[in-house]
Amino acid sequence: MANGLMSVSYIAAAILFILSLSGLSRQDTARRGNFFGALGMVVAILATVIGAQVTGYALLLPAIVVGGGVGWMLAVRVEMTQMPELVAVLHSFVGLAATLVGYASYLDPTAHFEGAEKTIHAVEIFLGVFIGAVTFTGSLIAFGKLRGSLSGKPLTLPARHWLNLAGIVGAVVLGARFLAAPETSGLPELLAMTAIALLLGVHLVMAIGGADMPVVVSMLNSYSGWAAAATGFMLSNDLLIVTGALVGSSGAILSYIMCRAMNRSFISVILGGFGTGGGTSSTMAAPQGEVQAISAEDTAQALLDAKEVVIVPGYGMAVAQAQGAISEITKRLRAKGVKVRFAIHPVAGRLPGHMNVLLAEAKVPYDIVLEMDEINADFPDTDAVLVVGANDIVNPSAQEDPGSPIAGMPVLEVWKAKTVVVFKRSMATGYAGVDNPLFFKENTRMLFGDAKKSVDSILAHIPT
Ligand code: NDP
Repeated sequence: MANGLMSVSYIAAAILFILSLSGLSRQDTARRGNFFGALGMVVAILATVIGAQVTGYALLLPAIVVGGGVGWMLAVRVEMTQMPELVAVLHSFVGLAATLVGYASYLDPTAHFEGAEKTIHAVEIFLGVFIGAVTFTGSLIAFGKLRGSLSGKPLTLPARHWLNLAGIVGAVVLGARFLAAPETSGLPELLAMTAIALLLGVHLVMAIGGADMPVVVSMLNSYSGWAAAATGFMLSNDLLIVTGALVGSSGAILSYIMCRAMNRSFISVILGGFGTGGGTSSTMAAPQGEVQAISAEDTAQALLDAKEVVIVPGYGMAVAQAQGAISEITKRLRAKGVKVRFAIHPVAGRLPGHMNVLLAEAKVPYDIVLEMDEINADFPDTDAVLVVGANDIVNPSAQEDPGSPIAGMPVLEVWKAKTVVVFKRSMATGYAGVDNPLFFKENTRMLFGDAKKSVDSILAHIPT
């Protein structure tokens, strides 16, 4: 492919990626955004594969077929609840790719750089491998934590900040020696730094616990972008640099938004140690008292008697796949003149935007889906709130208990409504491992059981 045509394709792909990001920022344009992103990726892959630099088709084509096939299968099979884990694994692939490309670039026998060019290339390699290795192991640990195979509790080693600092200083010293080494004799330094970066990735994410995981997910998203941008510099591929920078900066903005949603500073989350799990650092005793159960029939009656209803979806709604039935209840109640709205907490579920995706899939109208800040002041005027599989995001101890691991995190103030019905299977805690005094409040009723089954039983008592 001629260079000119290649540049035009790259520019077209970059524009499509920007259109994709802007489309994805709103629910009603998200589908179009997704389409632009996929189209941009097709253009980018075709332009790269047909480009003059690529010659090893015998290796490349089978790799594309196998990789594409695995990706296709995963996309078809993955459950909505497994999406966060899939995203974490995909981030780890980007990190691994950046690390491997770094080594390949360094050991490439055909590459000869002199003077400033050599230094710049070496810096690109060193940085690319460092970010890639941190992203690789960090994402694998995040995968384990999201999947539940690793404990959500933060691992707070003594002197952990000093360990991190020692790792970074060690990497800088190795970097200086690597830059000064002739030809490929800096390989031992590169290997040593990779080992440090792999350990740093594990340690940084292990130290972050419970409710702070959303920031980790978006932060690793950002790292994977910068790792891709570094790969772009190593390979002199402009499109990879642009794409990596887009992912890196949008991930950084998302991390900032998540931090604001949790009232945390970015630095304090990265340094870890929050969310000690089990509420062990809480100054308050575990909530006590009797919980009051309610039947599906009584819940249906409470909804029919209400003028204002707010539904708060959480991770349990995704697990139960109750969004379709919830949408149906909403339709029936609205047809009877009940005002129904949804309250979305920014960290509900296990992925930024998780609840919005589920509600959009179930065709809930966008205009009744409100953000936490838009609806929090309305709870005192609400007759009935349905908390469907949510826990941490409606936990009053965030406001009432300064020693709670989620203290200071803004939450949906559902307890201010006249009646709150909580749908869950047991008295278990949520992701952050913190007890929830909401369940014991006088105006709270517990509807125990799988959320889908509960919602179906309520539906049976609400005539069309
Ligand atoms: P939580 O994890 O706090 O609570 C979910 C609740 O759903 C559980 O208490 C569980 O109770 C219940 N549940 C599970 N399955 C079912 C089912 N089939 N039917 C009925 N109930 C069910 O979820 P929230 O959405 O309230 O909060 C999200 C948490 O996840 C926050 O701590 C957040 O920081 C964290 N997080 C968020 C990420 C994001 O990007 N959004 C990423 C990573 C973590 P029971 O077992 O008794 O049924």
